[in-house]
Amino acid sequence: IQSKLPNVGITIFTEMSQLAAKENAVNLSQGFPDFPIDAKLTQFLEEGSAKGLNQYLPMPGYIGLREAILKKMYDSHKATYDIESEITVTAGATQAIFTAIATIVKPGDEVIIIEPAYDCYEPTIQLFGGVTKRLILHKPDYVINWEDFKNLISNKTKLIIFNNPGNPSTRILRESDIQELIKIVKDTDIFLLSDEVYENITFDNKEYLSFARYSELKERSFIVASFGKLLHITGWKLGYILAPKEMMSEYRKVHQYNVFCVNSPSQYAIAKYMDEVLDYHEIAKMYQAKRDYFRNALAGTDFKLLNCEATYFQAVDYSAVSELGDKDFCKHLTQVYKVAAIPFSAFYHNFMDEKVIRFCFAKKQETLDQAIENLVKLK
Ligand code: PMP
Ligand code: GLN
Repeated sequence: IQSKLPNVGITIFTEMSQLAAKENAVNLSQGFPDFPIDAKLTQFLEEGSAKGLNQYLPMPGYIGLREAILKKMYDSHKATYDIESEITVTAGATQAIFTAIATIVKPGDEVIIIEPAYDCYEPTIQLFGGVTKRLILHKPDYVINWEDFKNLISNKTKLIIFNNPGNPSTRILRESDIQELIKIVKDTDIFLLSDEVYENITFDNKEYLSFARYSELKERSFIVASFGKLLHITGWKLGYILAPKEMMSEYRKVHQYNVFCVNSPSQYAIAKYMDEVLDYHEIAKMYQAKRDYFRNALAGTDFKLLNCEATYFQAVDYSAVSELGDKDFCKHLTQVYKVAAIPFSAFYHNFMDEKVIRFCFAKKQETLDQAIENLVKLK
């Protein structure tokens, strides 16, 4: 078979999680919580199934869940969407991103991504014949230089993909960034895809600026979110996508032949949970406590802690600890110190090793303590 993705292997998340299991190491690599989910979610899941939500739902998703999403977008951002035509429930953020790219990108279209970039964007662009243009950001702050950004725009630019807050940079876009972007896309036909899966995991009371808040961006944006991140249920693989009617109607042409609709009882469970139980502030508070605990524990080591503004990842610069390349260092850490992490070079297309790795701190206390006990030995 002639590969459509000749340069793609298994993802770094699979690779490191497999190595962690083989080495019996604490797995702080792939981003997923290891603590139990709220029993109410499980109860609502059973209830959904008992109530008979076991067959196909309407293609855009369970109406109760779409209502909960609209309420969330209004309460958080004063953003309004039409419940029938502008919101679609998806099989996680990954499927939403894949389908949005499939909807928009034709062969030869240019798509701008910002590196370090989450891993699923580029292969999908490539599958649909798009040409990826990359803005490269650097440690320690991963700040966008908007002059460099402007230089990437051409008359072939079709789509720009943002991940805000950024995985793995953890950076949140500032108002000044948003205003630069508004100026750049004004009077163009450029579409935006805003991956906002970590929107509710932001720290130190930093305000999160969704593209949905700005009409100049909202009118051309697909906004993607993940219930996996919101409710600590990455294995449920549910998320959603929002877009203006015209964009969504094209999106749905693809979506209906991609999955048609997604898991029914869990849509019921999430809707009920959002209505009756969920407190958004608690999520950030819970993760902020874990972030602070992990950072404090590593503060006395030779790891240099980079800023962690959001997400459940802590990036560290290990240049004072080892001269190994970042992937080799992650393997060494897993094999010898029994803690698995993700190398930042995996988020860059062209080789870029700034000696930075990422730890996931979405873990129960005993997992964090075990990891810390192993990591402080590196000193
Ligand atoms: N985007 C980013 C930035 C992510 O970190 C992830 C992983 N959760 C996804 C998308 C995919 O989300 P999901 O698991 O809902 O497909
Ligand atoms: N989003 C998760 C991370 O960044 C990984 C998801 C996956 O394994 N594809 O670690």
